[in-house]
Amino acid sequence: MKNKMFIWVLLSIILGIGCGIAFPQLMISLKWIGKLYINLLTLIALPLIFSALVSAITSIGNVKRLGNIGVYTIFYVLSSVAVAVFIGLVLLNLFKPGVGMSPSLILANATASPVLLKTLDLSSFLMTIFPPNIVEAAAKFEIMPIVFFSIVFSIACISVGETAKPVIDLFSGLRNVFVKMIIWLMHLTPIGLFSLLGSAAAEAALQNNLMHSLESMLLFILIFIIGLFLQFLWQLMVIKFITGRNTRVFFRQASRAMLTAFATSSSMATLPVTLHVAEEQGISDEVARFILPFATTINLAGTAMYEAVSTLFFCQILGLHLSIYSQIGVFLASIMAGMGATGIPEGGLVTMVMVLRSVNVPASAISLLLPFDRILDRFRTVVNVWGDLVCAATVDYFVKKPYKVIAANNPLSKHQENFKLITSKIE
Ligand code: ASP
Repeated sequence: MKNKMFIWVLLSIILGIGCGIAFPQLMISLKWIGKLYINLLTLIALPLIFSALVSAITSIGNVKRLGNIGVYTIFYVLSSVAVAVFIGLVLLNLFKPGVGMSPSLILANATASPVLLKTLDLSSFLMTIFPPNIVEAAAKFEIMPIVFFSIVFSIACISVGETAKPVIDLFSGLRNVFVKMIIWLMHLTPIGLFSLLGSAAAEAALQNNLMHSLESMLLFILIFIIGLFLQFLWQLMVIKFITGRNTRVFFRQASRAMLTAFATSSSMATLPVTLHVAEEQGISDEVARFILPFATTINLAGTAMYEAVSTLFFCQILGLHLSIYSQIGVFLASIMAGMGATGIPEGGLVTMVMVLRSVNVPASAISLLLPFDRILDRFRTVVNVWGDLVCAATVDYFVKKPYKVIAANNPLSKHQENFKLITSKIE
């Protein structure tokens, strides 16, 4: 099934571009099909983010019961996602791959009126986060109020305790339902892709800038992959300098989970392998069993980076200069959207709609990424899974550290360790 889908996607890319160049008028008249596909993606984004965040945050309630493990995990996840988004934004600001690309590539399929950018100052930024009407904010696709509302809502659920359990169960059930809907929607990708690519190629061909657009796209992809590599690298340093593990061995063991992530494009589907690898790495069972399922749903650093770089890329194409406040807005929105996405194939593509809305970029801009998303998804999933393993190893290190100190200072423990060493040799 997966391979068949891959072939369909490949065919739709080739056919879409081919038809766009050969029959531009026809493909432009068919662009409503692509718009419909984008509408369906947009439709699911908001309920998915809300239910995914509520079920993830309420599960922190359980993690909290684990004491230090919970605190270390949340700290690690927030830092790693924030660093990923930061790396992405710095690279995009440095290389500016979108500058000079034709805005028609995005606006050709746009459903929105001309793009207007809000330049945010601090007070209006805070006003956006706390609007008087949450339903109105949802209708306008404003991510920040939704995220803050879900955080407060989830904390309230946790503090209410037992009586709120049905509400928590409802939201985790809803999340599974939306994930199912996304999986169905992904079956329509080849049709949406054919129409979106065809009409975009037609517009670009009519303006003779197809080759230039392709070069800029390739530069964007290269920058994103460099960003992912940097994210991989600093976490490798964490393994070396903080946990003191042998990086080569750690990487060799992790590579099995990373290859599975590459093959499945899903951190969730990779979870059984990730758990197995954690066991091989000697990460304590308690840490691995509680942290990895949690990290799989929320620690999507590669995805968050993708949300940020894509949004900035589109802004560059549209010639929009983002003020520092707007960039902070993109930074926060990407962190939230990355954490609100689930570890399923192309989950990040759906939640990106919300980040785009935060700077008034039309959701149809996603069409530019669609042909490349399948492959980019594989790379970011690899980095997501790698991050989960590094997170588990780091938390494991901090949890065990006090015991190691006690063992080192306590002669009795030394005896016990020697005893264990000797008995294991005898066995
Ligand atoms: N496929 C990614 C994952 O499973 C999520 C995404 O970025 O779309 O981790």
